Amino acid sequence: MTAELSSMEYEGVLELMTELGEPKFRAKQVFSWLARGVRPEEMTNIPKALREKLALLPFGGARIIETKHSQRDETMKFLYELDDGNIVEGVLMSYSYGNTLCISSQVGCRMGCAFCASTLNGKVRDLTAGEMLSEVTAVERAVSAGEGRKRTVTNIVMMGCGEPLDNYENTVAFLKRATADDGLGISPRNISLSTCGLVPRIYTLPEDAPHVTLCISLHAPNDELRRRTMPIANAYSLRELIPAAKHYADVTGRRVIFEYALIEGVNSSDEHARELSRLLRGINCHVNLIPLNSVKERSLNGVTRSRAAQFAALLEKLHISATVRRELGTDIDGACGQLRNKHIENEKEEIL
Ligand code: SAH
Repeated sequence: MTAELSSMEYEGVLELMTELGEPKFRAKQVFSWLARGVRPEEMTNIPKALREKLALLPFGGARIIETKHSQRDETMKFLYELDDGNIVEGVLMSYSYGNTLCISSQVGCRMGCAFCASTLNGKVRDLTAGEMLSEVTAVERAVSAGEGRKRTVTNIVMMGCGEPLDNYENTVAFLKRATADDGLGISPRNISLSTCGLVPRIYTLPEDAPHVTLCISLHAPNDELRRRTMPIANAYSLRELIPAAKHYADVTGRRVIFEYALIEGVNSSDEHARELSRLLRGINCHVNLIPLNSVKERSLNGVTRSRAAQFAALLEKLHISATVRRELGTDIDGACGQLRNKHIENEKEEIL
């Protein structure tokens, strides 16, 4: 059993209450606060003495320490501080159907993708399930749901910092709590998990976790090219990854999303589109294209939006469903890892 309050299941809270000599109904009360990300100090229907005891236990939450509002659209970016001082980030995007929160699953990342800012300083540590939940509940508490809406965060995408399948147990525990009626109660259909392609975990995920939308960061139509930007391609070839994706689609009945960042002069020619269409033929899937967000530390550049649209049109012509992802929050460093890195850099500058 974990001692961290925010990650506890109901059974864990019940056990804790028994240990503390508390009546059973307290477990329900405490758990319902925890499910909303509330810390002991604020649990108003709990006696002070118990609140004080609970406050001595590690909580494992994420507090919002900075919020940025986009001037161009309704996107908001959050910088969270974890209890140990580590920093992660989240982005809230507004759509007609609701709000999607992009959350982080690790502090940093060890996957080493050449175009991704999150991995520049490697992985610091995994996030616990409670910390991931806390990223959501902190936003729920900070941003009002809007007229006629019960909740602020209607959809979740695990596309922030980190590789969720490299933090498998915590990710599975998070998905269970996020979808449970006594947790966040979000439908698995409204949750997406993005992975760079840890093949064995893609096979176990449908058994272990609610059936969420699986997104696979592909970014290349062949192994040779993929290995140039994604070290994971050395561990698992496309001959292993594509059948794993197909298996997920078949077992869950959910369409798999392939993410493809178009990089100028690297993976964005007509021939690449044709090769991609051959690779994905026969899979219940959709291709999400995005012009690469240029990362200043790397000399890789994105294509223009019009080139991305052409690439999408060619894929469609070849019977592969494809769209160009809308770019939101570009003025507030909406791209993966950028805000956190800037925050760390600023701190470094302050120290130097
Ligand atoms: N580790 C997971 C999730 C985090 S990254 C994964 O690899 O899927 C979320 C998405 O953003 C991935 O598709 C990733 O490849 C993409 N991404 C990272 N850096 C990017 C950049 N500079 N421009 C466009 N997409 C980027």
